[in-house]
Amino acid sequence: MIILYTPATGFPDLEVKIAYGLARVGIEAFGIDKVAIQDEGGFYEIIIDCDVSKEDRLDKTFDMLCRRLLSSSYIPFNTPGIAGRSAESITVSEGETFTVNNYKLIIFNASNIQTENVCKHKDESIGNIIGFTVATSYHHKRDGIDISIQQDIPRRPTNPKKICKVCALLSLLGTWYASFIFNIADREVIAIPIPKGKVTGSKLQEIFSLQHQIRKDWINQKISQVLIPLVFLSKIPSSADILDGFDLFIAVLSRQQGYHVDGLFLIPIENYLDFIRKSPYNIATIDVMLRREAYGSLQELNNTIYNRNKASLLRFPRLYVQETSSNNFTNLLYPETAKYLLKEVAMISPEIIENPALGSLARTLRYFIRERKYGYADDIRNARKESRDFEETIAKILREGELRRVQQEQDKKQGKKIDNWIHLPKEDEIKEIFKLANEDFEATKLALVMLAFSFPSRAEENDKSTDEIQNAK
Ligand SMILES: [Zn+2]
Repeated sequence: MIILYTPATGFPDLEVKIAYGLARVGIEAFGIDKVAIQDEGGFYEIIIDCDVSKEDRLDKTFDMLCRRLLSSSYIPFNTPGIAGRSAESITVSEGETFTVNNYKLIIFNASNIQTENVCKHKDESIGNIIGFTVATSYHHKRDGIDISIQQDIPRRPTNPKKICKVCALLSLLGTWYASFIFNIADREVIAIPIPKGKVTGSKLQEIFSLQHQIRKDWINQKISQVLIPLVFLSKIPSSADILDGFDLFIAVLSRQQGYHVDGLFLIPIENYLDFIRKSPYNIATIDVMLRREAYGSLQELNNTIYNRNKASLLRFPRLYVQETSSNNFTNLLYPETAKYLLKEVAMISPEIIENPALGSLARTLRYFIRERKYGYADDIRNARKESRDFEETIAKILREGELRRVQQEQDKKQGKKIDNWIHLPKEDEIKEIFKLANEDFEATKLALVMLAFSFPSRAEENDKSTDEIQNAK
């Protein structure tokens, strides 16, 4: 068995790229099932299950990969953070050979001087390493603060840090095989899965192949940075199983005379993956919001999913309906998504979510929402347990509902076609709802609002004709 160690640079993205690069070399040399990556907190071990006498195969394979992939500037040039001139400097020239010997040692002889490579390897250096680890660069917002003077001209600082060429090449291989590169409007984004614990060769292979599904330039919209993980993951639904157990490192870069860092975050993604995995309607919901540029509701949904924020969940449905409806069509939430959010995020019991009495009142409230009359839904949303707002709003809904019913009957008699029949809950259903609200006010209120802003479920749809019959009596 051979164990290779990444150099513990302190940069999470650089470490993992080097680890992926080394793992790829190991896989090409000895096969998928012989390689694993172990997260050691700050650095990675690449465990290669092979006969030590065959270890020279690693260097030969590394040289072969370098010649095959990195002898032109194509890959560096297409890596965010590496600009034209530096791309040329990272290419591998003919006859150049490399070794992974440095990674067999866990202890480094650091001299702690500024000119030292960030990886502490003493080999040939390459400068300008934003492409390998964006954290070495200054944030865009600090332009004008971080100024260096070169030849009497104030300039945005170039990064003085350097890295050894072998680490640079491994990092490029890791980027090429395991990171997701895409554009969002005029920003370049690089997303890289950060393993937690142990990752097997077959899992790595899944990531390598998933990565190939990502096309360049597929998000043309100017979405805010916090929405990037959710939108990105929703575009690759098959990622949910593959990326389970990983965090995601995301770097957002922009280019004006060289690269700027616009955003940098390392986040857990379990909550996103759960949302994406549980229902295709959840992914469709995001698609609808992107298509309609419904960014306000997308922010609230993101906050709901990622932070499990119930206040955002309460604001989300109304914003969603407003932002995604057109002049002649009231778009509502998919009931599957509404129920997912109620169950998984708000942790509301199925007894409330599936309660027929609550469903009945939600149907009445939905009638008004379809008429673009959001006042009742807002009053319920804002109702406090201490006051009688909830009961009073329901009483108002029933009064106005009754008037509408009478009107609809008259219209029908005059031969008018009624598209949106009003449904009125029965008296014992109202009693049941007050009882629910008394037991768990916030849950009852939230479920009522969410369901009212959702399309009727299929069972309800089949039952729709009963309103017509009932009202026609
Ligand atoms: Zn190095």
